[in-house]
Amino acid sequence: MKGNIAIDGPAGAGKSTVARQVAKRLGYLYIDTGAMYRALTWKALKSNVKVTDEAALAELARRTSFEFREASPGELAVFCDGEDVSRFIRSAEVSRLVSRVAAWPKVREEMVRLQRKLAAGGKVVMDGRDIGTCVLPEARYKFFLTASLEERARRRWQELVAQGDNVPLEKVKQEIEERDRRDCQRVVAPLRPAPDAVIIDTSDLTPEEVIEYIIKVVREDRYGG
Ligand code: C5P
Repeated sequence: MKGNIAIDGPAGAGKSTVARQVAKRLGYLYIDTGAMYRALTWKALKSNVKVTDEAALAELARRTSFEFREASPGELAVFCDGEDVSRFIRSAEVSRLVSRVAAWPKVREEMVRLQRKLAAGGKVVMDGRDIGTCVLPEARYKFFLTASLEERARRRWQELVAQGDNVPLEKVKQEIEERDRRDCQRVVAPLRPAPDAVIIDTSDLTPEEVIEYIIKVVREDRYGG
């Protein structure tokens, strides 16, 4: 799957901001795989499917269509069975449960199959937790964004406060820590950098600096060959 760009990392490392801009500037398609797991979690909640029921969740994933469409100019939104669900999938409840849904091997099998299909044409920037290690191990460019837990929690908290949510910083930190723990410790496709990924600690970098660095690596084709 040459020509694709994989961007992985823990919650709040800045993946989606960076991936979206990199895709825009290079004229690639941006695929947010976290939004797909979130949409499935939202649908499970709506359909009364328990997050402990692996078989039912996998079946739900098989029966659901996930698409990325332009909701407003230049802005891609995730559509679940034809409905724009972007405003539902960032809720506190979905954030709390998504890593439990995503830990099930049969659920991941379905999602990875879909994600590979979406990337089959190349020129895709895909962000997630297992893109470089599992979904697109052949991706030409792999980046792993990370930052200290304090910094990631602070960023997520600022986003929430900007949206009018007065959640305490400590609560956001605990939620991120718990999600990281689940994502790193699961048996299938745990969160970790691919051996050939470029690791970028974004703690002291602005999003613009990270975007420029990635674009430079891609344009100069530093991977060679
Ligand atoms: O990227 P975001 O924080 O929206 O992802 C939500 C959750 O979806 C992650 O915490 C993880 O449990 C799951 N996920 C995953 N594999 C991916 C993308 C997301 O397991 N490729």
